[in-house]
Amino acid sequence: MKHIVIIGGGIAGIETACALTDAGHWVTVIEKDSQLGGKLNNWSYLFPDFTPTEKITVELQAKCRDKDFSILTSTEISTILRKDGKFNIETSSDQKLEADAVVVATGYELFDAHRKEEYGYKIYDHVITSADLEELLKPGGDLTVAAGKYPKRIAFVHCVGSRDEKSGNHYCSKVCCITGVKQAIELKMRLPDAEIFCFYMDLRMYGKHFEELYREAQEKYDIQFIRGRLSEASEKIDKSLLIKSEDTLSGRPLKMNVDLMVLLVGMEAGKGTANAAKACGIGCEESGFLKTTDTFLKSNFSEQEGIFLAGSCTAPMSVNDTILHARSAAMEVKHWLSKR
Ligand SMILES: Cc1cc2nc3c(=O)[nH]c(=O)nc-3n(C[C@H](O)[C@H](O)[C@H](O)COP(=O)(O)OP(=O)(O)OC[C@H]3O[C@@H](n4cnc5c(N)ncnc54)[C@H](O)[C@@H]3O)c2cc1C
Ligand code: SF4
Repeated sequence: MKHIVIIGGGIAGIETACALTDAGHWVTVIEKDSQLGGKLNNWSYLFPDFTPTEKITVELQAKCRDKDFSILTSTEISTILRKDGKFNIETSSDQKLEADAVVVATGYELFDAHRKEEYGYKIYDHVITSADLEELLKPGGDLTVAAGKYPKRIAFVHCVGSRDEKSGNHYCSKVCCITGVKQAIELKMRLPDAEIFCFYMDLRMYGKHFEELYREAQEKYDIQFIRGRLSEASEKIDKSLLIKSEDTLSGRPLKMNVDLMVLLVGMEAGKGTANAAKACGIGCEESGFLKTTDTFLKSNFSEQEGIFLAGSCTAPMSVNDTILHARSAAMEVKHWLSKR
């Protein structure tokens, strides 16, 4: 039996841990937060089919109980030293572990919307992010805006902190287009009288059922998609928002008054991944996501032998893709250990 340490207890870390435990190995998951689950704990219903997130998290918790692997919460790695083919690991709570292999599954962080000052996040009352909206879409969430009224006009802004020269993130975050479509439909179901507008530059409906959901949003829920990047927003005295954009399909400037603006924030590699990369001595790409040995056949391999990668610490990805990537990481670890 070999010992594998997994850094990060989101869905990628948990899936990798379960698969390696099934393969007969002893696994320790190190999670910096006080609970496992990662970002999934924050979402209400999942695209593309509105599965309640709780359904997945309850299953994950049951899996963790059944599989009997060690979990260290509120803990980070301080140092990892390689000696005689083993990894000697010291944690922030002074535990010392010896591992045969390490899997980094530290996920991503949300783009900080304050950095797009022109949109007025936390300056204007009714500018929120897609992550804030997930909280409001949970049962009991309050969707009222000024004077306790429900919003009549809502704008979604795509590509906030992704594909954007100014914020330094050139890549596409992949999941925010479909998150916007899912959330627009959820809002329309809760507020049937509301008019909803999505401001986009390109729409990335790459996954199974994504395109169908996008069509449904237009045909069944009358959600309007306007091709244009928002230049700025300002708050009016009644707390509604004046937004300015250009409709790039008609070539005309556009001004619109809305009661609520939702910023579809992108994914960044974040500090947690940077810290793990430093401790492990593995490389990051220009985007900050972890470098894989190659794109096709070795997407779970870091530059350091024996240190593997799982999930969205390597690139933005959906839950489904994360699970598949985590399972393939477990397979690669198992294969590598069996060859030693
Ligand atoms: C607004 C929004 C909505 C989304 N909705 C959906 C959806 O409906 N459907 C869908 O398929 N996908 C959705 N996604 C994508 C989904 O969140 C990701 O696919 C998923 O969270 C990736 O899991 P992960 O385990 O790779 O990363 P994470 O969920 O980020 O988990 C990583 C874990 O590692 C821990 N960690 C980080 N650094 C360290 C460290 N140094 N040491 C120890 N622990 C560390 C973190 O605390 C965290 O628990 C959404 C994304 C966004 C931004
Ligand atoms: S998924 Fe859509 S909103 Fe997100 S960065 Fe890509 S194009 Fe923009």
